[in-house]
Amino acid sequence: MINTNEVLKKYGLKLTKTLGQNFLTDINIIKKIVETGEVSSSDLVLEIGPGIGAMTAEIAKRAGKVVAVEIDKNLMPALQENLEEFPNVSIVNQDIMKADIKELIDGWIGPKKVISNLPYYITTPIIMMLLETDIAWDILVFMVQKEVAFRLAAVPSTKDYSAISVAVRYYSDPKLAFTVSRNCFIPKPDVDSAVVKLKRRDLECVRDINKELFFRIVKASFSHRRKTLLNSLGSQDWLEGGKERLRNVLVKLGIKEAVRAEELTIEDFARLCRELAK
Ligand code: SAM
Repeated sequence: MINTNEVLKKYGLKLTKTLGQNFLTDINIIKKIVETGEVSSSDLVLEIGPGIGAMTAEIAKRAGKVVAVEIDKNLMPALQENLEEFPNVSIVNQDIMKADIKELIDGWIGPKKVISNLPYYITTPIIMMLLETDIAWDILVFMVQKEVAFRLAAVPSTKDYSAISVAVRYYSDPKLAFTVSRNCFIPKPDVDSAVVKLKRRDLECVRDINKELFFRIVKASFSHRRKTLLNSLGSQDWLEGGKERLRNVLVKLGIKEAVRAEELTIEDFARLCRELAK
């Protein structure tokens, strides 16, 4: 196991909060995260933010190939040295939001997976960017802030169920894997973390749907959590026919008039979208 304190001292590295640099120091947690990804030698794993490579090394022991994309060029010497015994790792010094991921993984015919202890400042944009690409990821494993993990994996009629829960379900089957104490990091963050596993799937109910309208509906529906759907979605000026039409659509679909967004499943949102697209 890489000793984080020793590596930071050896290379004179200062971790920066702005890049979300909280490094995992617990090898058991690292192994558990990699196990959650069910990594095998036929897999290519994209790791976002390898830091100084502690988790990368564990992934590299099991995967066929690892592509590790790290934004911070100051970490490059330590990262390269720590991973030099693994010829199956390729280190890329880039911002993941700007990287050409398709090109980075080009030619790999086996399963493609993502494993990352995500930088907290940019969690949602990275997750949505990865889900929205047409790359057929098999499994995506993310460590994120605990509250965010709860929202990602939330089911209807719970307090954490929100627009992001529906968005994630559009592309994948999300599961909360386990929680991680803040004491497992250097420096110690202000919050606890949790690991979520997203298994990509092709959901029947959203096939051939107007995707743009679907996400507009979901976003507007959750824009005022306490309001009924009639008042949140129904008051949008882009909604043709407004509240009256929405009321009729709800009746037609057998959904109660006083329903709130948090009570609707992804199947309900899909049915709503199909009706409102007519
Ligand atoms: N993987 C290491 C670990 O688990 O100990 C470090 C995880 S740390 C929470 C997040 C890492 O993501 C940092 O190394 C940070 O420099 C890197 N990072 C931040 N923003 C990034 C971006 N836009 N693209 C790629 N890497 C990024």
